[in-house]
Amino acid sequence: MSAMDGCLFCAIVADEVPADIVARTEHTVAFRDIAPQAPTHVLVVPRHHCRDALDLSANPTMAGHLLADAAEVARSLGLEPSGDDGADGGFRIVINTGSRAGQSVFHVHAHVFGGRPMAWPPG
Ligand code: 5GP
Ligand code: ZN
Repeated sequence: MSAMDGCLFCAIVADEVPADIVARTEHTVAFRDIAPQAPTHVLVVPRHHCRDALDLSANPTMAGHLLADAAEVARSLGLEPSGDDGADGGFRIVINTGSRAGQSVFHVHAHVFGGRPMAWPPG
């Protein structure tokens, strides 16, 4: 399936809904989250509709592209770890799967967070 009717992120991929685009690759589109939870908060989505991480697991090649493109977005935005023992910089990649885990848009997406220290465990 390429685009799914009524899917917000399919509409962003198709340029039917505006977004602050950070990067486009052959396989993914990256854009800034409308409600950022960190100084840098970017969403990276496959161009092809896919519901969640479980759906994505049927396509390990695409899963690899999503992770690789998310990491490249982080690097391009200057989020790579730096300083002594990587104490500065750094980023977190998150894929919420299921509403109980915080998923609210059912087109799989990798959140890339950076620009502040991150607590662990996550909430
Ligand atoms: P989830 O909760 O599914 O893990 O993440 C969905 C994310 O999409 C949320 O962080 C939310 O702020 C973001 N979001 C929802 N609607 C829009 C939108 O129309 N544009 C953009 N850029 N982000 C959105
Ligand atoms: Zn979609």
